[in-house]
Amino acid sequence: MEVFTSVKSLRQYLDHQLLQQKTIGLVPTMGALHNGHISLIEAAKKDTDIVVCSVFVNPTQFNNPEDLAKYPRTFEADRIMLENAGCSAVFAPSVEEMYPEQPVLKMNFGALETVMEGASRPGHFNGVGIVVSKLFNIVRPHRAYFGQKDLQQVSVVRQLVNDLAFGFELVVCPTVRETDGLAMSSRNTRLDANERALASHIYRILAGAGADLRAGKPVSEVIGWAKSEFEKISEFNLDYFEVVNLKTLLPVEKIGSTGSNAICVAAFLGPVRLIDNIIF
Ligand code: AMP
Repeated sequence: MEVFTSVKSLRQYLDHQLLQQKTIGLVPTMGALHNGHISLIEAAKKDTDIVVCSVFVNPTQFNNPEDLAKYPRTFEADRIMLENAGCSAVFAPSVEEMYPEQPVLKMNFGALETVMEGASRPGHFNGVGIVVSKLFNIVRPHRAYFGQKDLQQVSVVRQLVNDLAFGFELVVCPTVRETDGLAMSSRNTRLDANERALASHIYRILAGAGADLRAGKPVSEVIGWAKSEFEKISEFNLDYFEVVNLKTLLPVEKIGSTGSNAICVAAFLGPVRLIDNIIF
């Protein structure tokens, strides 16, 4: 497995691969890798000849300086995991390499960024949009792989890929969970033992809400139940719990056909903000 820290050396490597008619898959990450990330590498390996994983903690998508400072950075462990997973190349640039100059471009994703994560984290999707656009231009993949775990990010990236005609296939992979249901996340390592045990309630409440909605309970009643479940556990500070249309991400009062809705949640457990969702 090759490790590149400069755009130039990565491009040279990829140009060489393209000359040999190889297809390229891109998996963008912020490192502190877990099996959720590795599932994206495995999906990419099935579809493409060369899998490039980027590992870059992108400062411009953090609206909270403490979250950025405390974001886990475990490059050596990441490198070993990627090597074992059969990844072809890692792109791990410095902040200076990615941003020789501060970008002035501002991306506005309209209604997609005024709800949920966009409402709670101003500027977040602008930062995501800029960094993934840079990665798409640097790597020029045939396919790029994203996790359903970050559902709103997938919507924003899909919009970006369509609006700017990036011309590759966006592949969305299912959320990988711990055995107690907690969605794997780099931020889980910041939970203490008590918080980690409580974290499984997020998926329990999501799954319970999904079952109730499928059974025909009204959306408002189900949301009320979910919020009261979070309130019972004092360590949780719920940011939002919403039942939305999967396409628009806007709240719905009635659910639609199978696969057209999602339940999305964001909650603080102590200082750590966790998100999760299910599609139903
Ligand atoms: P991150 O490093 O958190 O920016 O995530 C990099 C990519 O991995 C994103 O496309 C995420 O949606 C995806 N991802 C993160 N956690 C999971 C998970 N538990 N299951 C599947 N994909 C995930």
